[in-house]
Amino acid sequence: MMKEKFKGAFCSFCGRPYTHSGRLIAGKNGSYICEDCVEFFADFLEKEPEFSPRQIDFEIPKPLEIKEYLDKYVIGQEKAKKIISVAVYNHYKKIKYQAKDVEMDKSNILLIGPTGVGKTLLVQTLARFLKLPLALCDATSLTEAGYVGEDVENLLVRLLQAADYDIELTEKGIVYIDEIDKIARKSENPSITRDVSGEGVQQALLKMIEGSIVNVPPQGGRKHPEQEFLRINTKNILFIGGGTFEGLENIIKNRLQYNSLGFKANLNLNQVESNGRILEHIEPHDLMKFGFIPELVGRFPIIVTFHDLSLSELNDILSKPNNALVKQYRQLLNWDGVDLIFTRSALNEISKKALKMKTGARALRGVIEELMLDVMFKLPHMRDVKSCKITKATVTKGVPPQLIRKKKKAQ
Ligand code: ADP
Repeated sequence: MMKEKFKGAFCSFCGRPYTHSGRLIAGKNGSYICEDCVEFFADFLEKEPEFSPRQIDFEIPKPLEIKEYLDKYVIGQEKAKKIISVAVYNHYKKIKYQAKDVEMDKSNILLIGPTGVGKTLLVQTLARFLKLPLALCDATSLTEAGYVGEDVENLLVRLLQAADYDIELTEKGIVYIDEIDKIARKSENPSITRDVSGEGVQQALLKMIEGSIVNVPPQGGRKHPEQEFLRINTKNILFIGGGTFEGLENIIKNRLQYNSLGFKANLNLNQVESNGRILEHIEPHDLMKFGFIPELVGRFPIIVTFHDLSLSELNDILSKPNNALVKQYRQLLNWDGVDLIFTRSALNEISKKALKMKTGARALRGVIEELMLDVMFKLPHMRDVKSCKITKATVTKGVPPQLIRKKKKAQ
């Protein structure tokens, strides 16, 4: 017998009426789903998701298109975005056309600059735009094979996992090695004592980065002779190293001050220093002095420097990108029916606070989170709040945000 409440109802997915579709499950707003559709979607969800990255013959976006996409997420760092857009375009062009007569070197990229200024973000945004697998790794965990720590092959395991074990795709992916500066040689004299987390790792990385066939244990971990390996060709994998390279500025400064013969160079260091961009004067030799073996330096021909974020850039980071913090918090409160407003001066104060912490844009989230804690705790219980305004005084003096109530309807 037809249940009265289903009279005239039909499955909102396949469109069959109740009389033909078996049992119906009622959703909100008068929608229904039938038994068959539930089964169909359950099967669908059980299957391995298809990996979305474009396969080999993707259309390589032009540098300008890459840069325009990066601009939506990464604020400032204009020069870095431009250099990387060109470098990445060239890298994938080389792979696509595979020059027959000209030997093309791979141009891996080194990102140098303070913490929290967008290095990782840029790489993540890039990989998302190109729809290529990305492995985010940390060099501090790496050690030479046979020592406690991770073998460098594990970088490729991560990439393999990011590519859903599609080897062809893995071989075109991107590996980001954060904190690469931490594997610099510890002493000026090479190899006097064994330096398992320094020069040894550099040697191991070198082989992988310059392009070779690497045996990778599919599940990661240590290699065992009896284990099955996957063979990954790293020739086309783009390696991007990143780090703060503390102390490098002094090396560059020294070089700028004294020329190769030890005479004071004819250069106005004050001028270089006043724009705070000493890193921009970097030369490969500075990296060797910092503790990198020349062969590895040679494998990173593209060096990109990132600068500290200014107050106005932090303000933009708060409010402009598609996933800006202000937009995220506005949405969160909006779901409770509350309009969240940050005054311009409040945003400026948030940025000032973050600036003092010297961790780049990373500090912004913490500052906002603290401001919003009380409000986010209370608001869900208050049904009559229309909007919540964060002012300068909220940020600087801890004055509670202004809550504006809905007008009561006249009885
Ligand atoms: P690092 O330079 O240390 O790799 P990240 O890129 O990981 O720093 O930045 C940390 C977070 O700070 C990012 O996830 C992002 O939310 C924010 N951020 C940092 N720099 C920028 C920037 N230039 N533009 C937009 N957001 C940024």
